[in-house]
Amino acid sequence: PFDVLIIGEGPAGASAAVYAARKGLRTGLVGDRFGGQVMDTAGIENFISIPETDGPKLAAALEAHVRQYDVEIIPGQRAKELFPAPQPGGLHGVVLENGAVLHSRTVILATGAHWRHLGVPGEEEYRNKGVAYCPHCDGPFYKGKRVAVAGGGNSGVEAAIDLAGIVAHVTLLQRGSHLKADKVLQDKLHTLPNVTVLTEALTTRIEGNGRNVTGLTYRGGDGADHHIDLEGVFVQIGLLPNTGWLKGTLDLNDFGEIIVNDHCATSIPGVFAAGDATTTPYKQIVIAVGEGATAALSAFDYLIRVPAP
Ligand code: FAD
Repeated sequence: PFDVLIIGEGPAGASAAVYAARKGLRTGLVGDRFGGQVMDTAGIENFISIPETDGPKLAAALEAHVRQYDVEIIPGQRAKELFPAPQPGGLHGVVLENGAVLHSRTVILATGAHWRHLGVPGEEEYRNKGVAYCPHCDGPFYKGKRVAVAGGGNSGVEAAIDLAGIVAHVTLLQRGSHLKADKVLQDKLHTLPNVTVLTEALTTRIEGNGRNVTGLTYRGGDGADHHIDLEGVFVQIGLLPNTGWLKGTLDLNDFGEIIVNDHCATSIPGVFAAGDATTTPYKQIVIAVGEGATAALSAFDYLIRVPAP
C-alpha cells in the first residue's frame, strides 16, 4: 500500500507528489492528464517567478519535477470510487475506472474543475483566441479591447467589474430577465461608465476571422438576432468541480466542492484535498500548487500521529 495516494495530475497533484516524496513517503499519483487545466491554457503570466510561459510548457515542467522523485505514477487512469478507512490509520481504498483497487494510508484528492461551456458555435474553435474563462488569468491580454462577459451571476458580474478596469468596453449578457449577482455587485456594476448590461440576451454564436474572435451574436428578448463587434468573450456560467464520484462519501458544499479546512483536511480523517476541486476561494495555478504542498504536509503530519495499521 501507499502512504500517500494522490488523485489528479494537475498543479495541485504534482505539488503534493513532490512534497510527499520529499518526506520519504511511499507516494502514488493517479491521473489521466499531466498538467490538468494548465494543458488548456495558452499564455500564463501569473505563475510567480516565471514571468511568461504557456500551458504545455508548464505542464511538462510539472511532470519533469515529479519524475525527479520516487513517485509511482499510474498514468491514463481515473478514480471512480473512494472507500474510507474503517478506522483512523487504516487503509483507504481507491477504485480506478479499469477496476483496479489501490490502497493507501492517506489520500489527497486533487481532481480539479472545469468551466461550464456555452456550447455555441465558435466557442471551441476560438478557445484561447478570444474565448476565455478566467478573468484573473486572461483579463490583461484584452487591455484596451472590447469584450463580452456571458453570465449574470456573481462570477459574471465580478468578471465584468474586474475587466472594466482593464479593457475599453464590457458588454455583460444575461440569459434571463435579471442579473443573479449579489445586489452590492450589481450596484457597483451600474456605476461603471464602460459597461453595458443586456438582459434576455442569449449568446448563440461566437464569430471570428479564422484567427481571432471578431464578434458575438445573441438572441434578444424581441426574438431577433443581434450582433456585437468585439475581441474577447469571457464565459462565466460556472466552474464545476470534478467531484461527482465523491458524492455521498465525504462532505461537499452546494457547488460540489470538497469542504477543506486550512490544513486541506476533508471530513474523512486521512483524506485531504487541494486545488480547484475544493472550497478554496480563488482557483489559480499558484494557489493549487500551494494547497498541494499543504495537503502533503498535512498527510505527513497525520501519518506520524496515527498508529500504523
Ligand atoms: P486541474 O488543473 O483541474 O487538474 C486536475 C486533474 O485531475 C486533471 O488532469 C483532471 O483530468 C484530473 N482528474 C479529474 N477527475 C479525476 C479522477 N476521477 N481521477 C483521476 N484524475 C482526475 N490559472 C492561473 O493561475 N493562470 C492562468 O493563466 C490560468 N489560465 C487558465 C486558462 C484556462 C483556459 C483554464 C481552463 C484555466 C486557467 N487557470 C489559470 C486556472 C488553473 O488552470 C487552475 O486553477 C489549476 O489548473 C487548478 O489546478 P488543480 O490541480 O487543482 O486542477
